[in-house]
Amino acid sequence: MGTKNHLYINGKWTSAFDGGEMPVHNPSTGEEIEVVSAGNHKDAEASITAARMAFDQGKWKEFSANRRAGLLLKLADQIEGHTDEFASIETQNNGKTLRESKFDVAEAVKTFRYYAGLATKPLGETFELDSPMTGKVVREPVGVCAQIIPWNYPLLMASWKLAPALAAGNTCILKPSEMTPLSAIRLFELIDGLDFPPGVVNLLLGFGEAVGQPLAKSPLVDKVAFTGGTVTGKKIMQYAADNLKKVSLELGGKSPNIVFADADFETAVDYAMFAIFNNSGQVCSAGSRLLVEESIYDQFQEAIIERTQRIRVGSGFDASSQMGPLISPQHLSKVQGYITLGEEEGGKVCCGGKRLVENDLKKGNFIEPTIFINVKPEMRIAQEEIFGPVLCLIPFNTEAEAIEIANGTPYGLAAGIFTTDGAKAERVARSIRAGITWINTYEQNFVEAPWGGYKQSGLGRELGTYGLEEYMEVKQIINNLEVEPTGWFD
Ligand code: NDP
Repeated sequence: MGTKNHLYINGKWTSAFDGGEMPVHNPSTGEEIEVVSAGNHKDAEASITAARMAFDQGKWKEFSANRRAGLLLKLADQIEGHTDEFASIETQNNGKTLRESKFDVAEAVKTFRYYAGLATKPLGETFELDSPMTGKVVREPVGVCAQIIPWNYPLLMASWKLAPALAAGNTCILKPSEMTPLSAIRLFELIDGLDFPPGVVNLLLGFGEAVGQPLAKSPLVDKVAFTGGTVTGKKIMQYAADNLKKVSLELGGKSPNIVFADADFETAVDYAMFAIFNNSGQVCSAGSRLLVEESIYDQFQEAIIERTQRIRVGSGFDASSQMGPLISPQHLSKVQGYITLGEEEGGKVCCGGKRLVENDLKKGNFIEPTIFINVKPEMRIAQEEIFGPVLCLIPFNTEAEAIEIANGTPYGLAAGIFTTDGAKAERVARSIRAGITWINTYEQNFVEAPWGGYKQSGLGRELGTYGLEEYMEVKQIINNLEVEPTGWFD
């Protein structure tokens, strides 16, 4: 990244119109890693024009599904071939451990391959009509897609957005978070080496208000796909209302992880930790409310505290680290603010709770994995998304009570259920108002399975065939085989 041109618009690297730049930091050390271009509304307009022209007039329309699939497969191979480099960029820019980064790179590769495959598979239907008409349904691309992504999974979110949109034949403008643009820049260097016509895939860097807002408002954009916080998601929907563009939103959560007394104890403890401390808790589907059946509550609490105290927090580059830092000093303050609030509300921190400041850790945004007990379901720490390694333990007595607590927030993204009773697992899964439910596992994402939330956790689904449908219009074609007047007004 030796260049000062970090926007990729109409097939060319360019700097921001007004010369804007922004620093990018390493959350483990606080150091500035890079200064990158930061656009404003003029750059947003340039990228929209490029994507519009490429969709309406360019060669992209002539690319068969097979040819689009070929490009995505090549991109997947290229990403895979640069796995170590991408993992290192992600760990440097986001802070997550190298193990987590490598996992993300592998998932990004799978995503491009999966949608390359789907692009060429049969789509659409035919239906029988009263003679002499025939009917069929075809799928067509939506058009120009603005794709705004957050900082917690920079490369993976880019792939979840770009792969289905390009497979379906759309043109795209990707807007990464201002905090984590580096893996997207590297991804676009690879894209630049492939045969995408100019304007089909564009990279727009800058602050949310400066470039994200004009994308979401523009009447020339047909769809906005957003992943991020619920507050921003609501704004996106309002901006999009101007031209009623299509909207898909993948927002926050306060997901319940329910452990029944008959669960396999060790498995449940293990996944309960993975559910909240993976990626430092900065996960939309994090299992941030752990609902444990009263009869095993004390034993479970003891086991999870004992294991959580052993989690090694440190730089993602240190092979012994199991949990990295939070993304920014501002986000660290927000998470610390919630810990203070939780204590004021009557919750008790029984593990962690403090910023880590020993030696070099003080330069980064490190915080201890934290567990709250004495939590009432209605407390703000049990209702609002903290987006950090903060777990609320809540006891329950009956299946009905567990379901009521689980459903008792404005969110509905994910839920975990741990039990060895198969019928109970199925019953509870069906009673939970959430788009993703896991039985005896947690946080297992599959590109094949739809991802998204009920209630204020979002709109629409990513991944699987559902994710492709979000980037397609449905058209009916009725064909009259007897071409003669109806005579209706004779
Ligand atoms: P945001 O939702 O604000 O950011 C997500 C993306 O939206 C970023 O690319 C951001 O750009 C962009 N954006 C911000 N404001 C606007 C706007 N007005 N118009 C268009 N685009 C915009 O997340 P934050 O980083 O501010 O985090 C806030 C909270 O959101 C977190 O504490 C967490 O609770 C939640 N969150 C949830 C995520 C999830 O996966 N569900 C992911 C990230 C955050 P920029 O970064 O440049 O501002």
